[in-house]
Amino acid sequence: MKLYFIGADHEVTGSCHVVEVNGKHIMLDCGLEQGRDIYVNDDLPVPPAKIDAVLLSHAHIDHSGLLPKLVKDGFQGTIWCTEVTRQLCDIMLKDSAHIHESEAEWANRKAKRSGKKQEKPLYTVEDAEECMKYFRSIEYGETFTPVEGISARYEDGGHILGSAIIYLTLQEGGLKQTLAFTGDLGNTGMPIVNDPSPRETTDFVITESTYGDRLHEKVDDPLKQLADIMERTFKRGGNVVIPAFAVGRTQEMLYFIREILERDMVSYKDFDVYVDSPLADEATAIFEENVFGYYDEEAMKIIREGEHPLLFPNLITVVDAEESKQINSSTRPSVIISASGMCSNGRIKHHLKHNLWRPECTVALAGYQAEGTLGRLLADGVKDVRIFQEDIHVSAEIVQLQDVSAHADQNGLIHWLIDNPEKPEKVFVVHGDEEACTTFTELLKKDYDYRATAPYSGFVYDLLKNEYVGTEMPEKVLTAAEKKEKIKEDKNREQDTYAQNRYYSELMEKGQKLIRLIEKRKNAKNSELKRFLKEVERVVNRWD
Ligand SMILES: [Zn+2]
Repeated sequence: MKLYFIGADHEVTGSCHVVEVNGKHIMLDCGLEQGRDIYVNDDLPVPPAKIDAVLLSHAHIDHSGLLPKLVKDGFQGTIWCTEVTRQLCDIMLKDSAHIHESEAEWANRKAKRSGKKQEKPLYTVEDAEECMKYFRSIEYGETFTPVEGISARYEDGGHILGSAIIYLTLQEGGLKQTLAFTGDLGNTGMPIVNDPSPRETTDFVITESTYGDRLHEKVDDPLKQLADIMERTFKRGGNVVIPAFAVGRTQEMLYFIREILERDMVSYKDFDVYVDSPLADEATAIFEENVFGYYDEEAMKIIREGEHPLLFPNLITVVDAEESKQINSSTRPSVIISASGMCSNGRIKHHLKHNLWRPECTVALAGYQAEGTLGRLLADGVKDVRIFQEDIHVSAEIVQLQDVSAHADQNGLIHWLIDNPEKPEKVFVVHGDEEACTTFTELLKKDYDYRATAPYSGFVYDLLKNEYVGTEMPEKVLTAAEKKEKIKEDKNREQDTYAQNRYYSELMEKGQKLIRLIEKRKNAKNSELKRFLKEVERVVNRWD
């Protein structure tokens, strides 16, 4: 009975673990590594065709994004998840495949010109469609048997709609162990989704640690902040442009805007709200359809009152690219929600081009803006940006919206663990960068007397012996600067070794010559031999 750590160990993306019971193998998540890669993910302990099932915690690509490749490489088992996760994967995996296809196409156009080898995409839209045939959905609280010897149950993870904490009971040779896997653990007080369900007692816990070293800033009132932005922008006759991630953040924005209208928080009512992202529209439709069992109490109250928390009369969804362009010729003040969330690509760039230069408009950034993105430049107050080869002067008001993060912070993670007084045998801390996962592991050990460990990719734990049986360190992925430095170091080392070898062989030669000189003087005079001996002695004593 073993637990293999494959991905998101000492890093955040590429979530993947394998549980082995009675020679059967199930995967917990099958995520794609995104952004900067720190460690090379270890290979699966068996080929994809020998993996019997995948238990998927939620739809985010860093947890699900390698599923089409797994199927393409021979996986034949069942992919288990909640119904919302299945529906979200259906749109998100196809979208991810589309990105891989366009990236390969772009790289191949360049490769063709330089005579280099053509690249294949990681997987295609067709692969993503094929992979969906292996999905099977279950409800929260339902016990199922993915393979003989393992029973599983999903409980609400409170992270995104449909996300789950996975509980496993493993049986082998009359022995039983239990394991909880957090997936991504949600924050409390998020709109639409429930708070994460409390921890149940298990022998082992695999916990995420994205914010294991940090506390979220206190959010005052995101609803009032957005209402104030809308009020003052509409008064100026401008538009509010919100770059937002298609799944999750966009729906939160819709929830807030409906609430603002409902509570009469803006005086100017004659405005339109556009959601201009085909993926966001598809995701919103999934959010609209899957209510029961997924929405939190507040959102359910709205449903019981005969309304929908994400729908209101002035909402316009835009799918067509032509319609998208027409938004900017409208004279009515509007809220324009579009992807991507960090403004690096997608239709949002068109809307920024048309609104950033207008002092009456506002750009409201929602969520984290990574280094090197247009969103980050705007957040940093840069006054001149370039969009589609055009210089744009930033005259619009730029605001960072207060976030309700989708991840629990250090306090949230600690409380989820300690609110149940039954300590697990061991807590495996994963899904956090170096600082976050090690800080959180130390905190658990020192302040809470937990047996905690932060495994690396490639580590193997025997769940019956309760010890590591493999601790091979993963290879580090170097940045371009580190690679350059390594090449320089290797070159220096090579030169040093060469110089060292050359002098050594010269010295050996001289030593052998010395022997021959001594032999030659076998019958020399004693006085000559004495002088020679003294000289040799001096050298020998100095180097001995
Ligand atoms: Zn996630």
